[in-house]
Amino acid sequence: MRAAVLHAPGDVRVEDVAEPAITAPTDAVIRLAATCVCGSDLWPYRGVEPVAGPTQMGHEYVGVVDEVGSAVASVEPGQFVVGSFVASDGTCEICRSGYPSSCVDRVFMAQVGTQSERARIPHADGTLVATPGTPDPDLIPSLLAASDVLGTGWFGAVAADAGPGRTAAVVGDGAVGLMAVLAARQLGAERIIAMSRHEPRQRLAREFGATDIVTERGDDGVAKVKELTGGLGAHSVIEAVGTQESMRQAIGSARPGGHVGFVGVNHDVALSGEELFFSQVHLHGGPAPVRRFLPGLIDLIWRREIDPGKVFDRTLPLDQAAEAYQAMDERRAVKTLLTV
Ligand SMILES: [Zn+2]
Repeated sequence: MRAAVLHAPGDVRVEDVAEPAITAPTDAVIRLAATCVCGSDLWPYRGVEPVAGPTQMGHEYVGVVDEVGSAVASVEPGQFVVGSFVASDGTCEICRSGYPSSCVDRVFMAQVGTQSERARIPHADGTLVATPGTPDPDLIPSLLAASDVLGTGWFGAVAADAGPGRTAAVVGDGAVGLMAVLAARQLGAERIIAMSRHEPRQRLAREFGATDIVTERGDDGVAKVKELTGGLGAHSVIEAVGTQESMRQAIGSARPGGHVGFVGVNHDVALSGEELFFSQVHLHGGPAPVRRFLPGLIDLIWRREIDPGKVFDRTLPLDQAAEAYQAMDERRAVKTLLTV
């Protein structure tokens, strides 16, 4: 089958690899309907994370079940399924408490690779959710978004305690930040401040529910959020970048007693204990427990209450994955969908 393989920083090739097979009775193999390139795929692509030889890429996926192992009970061949970017057993104490992305048996799908024609999904029962039927083709981008960016933005908004009567601020205008805007809106936030300096992304943020745009960054961005919130800061701040500057901006933008949901994968962030102490904010984040939210998100998408698929501003066939990476690396695309 065909799959996107990273050979070295900047060098993605679509080539023939071995067909996936059931290796454990809890596995399923799916035939991809669509996959995509994630902001976090850019870390190894840019050489920020090491590339240890040729690596199959991708961790977002929707598709049709081809085969299941003998122990799989919740999905069957022919069903259309959505899964999280972390495979989880769904039965351990951490999964049952709502944190499947830290499952004691977790498998990061990035280690399997889903930018391919077919993929093996470990822990199929705990990981995959079947849709009510075969989706209309126009729903596929939204269902694919649920696999990571929507679920991650949603967790950010939940962790930030976004809700009625509260102001939410979102640091980061990548796909996850934009999805966090949508989530804050769905959760009922009264005012949503999107922090972005890129006009096309500002427009998308407004479509997803942003009421205010702040273009300033760092301390100036914090000052602007305070200015918009009577000098107090936002109740809920979603951090969707993962850098030193964005984490400081997020914590600084939250009011005392407020909540920061941080879902940008952190790289080299070091926080001052003193700053944390006096910020008096709740901090919660990490790899999003997307599987917890999938049934509800699929329902919202199926009923066409939300249209997160709009976050994909480019569609290419899998064979052009190299261009998809380049477009995202150069910020010519927010998020690129790959058709399989
Ligand atoms: Zn588990």
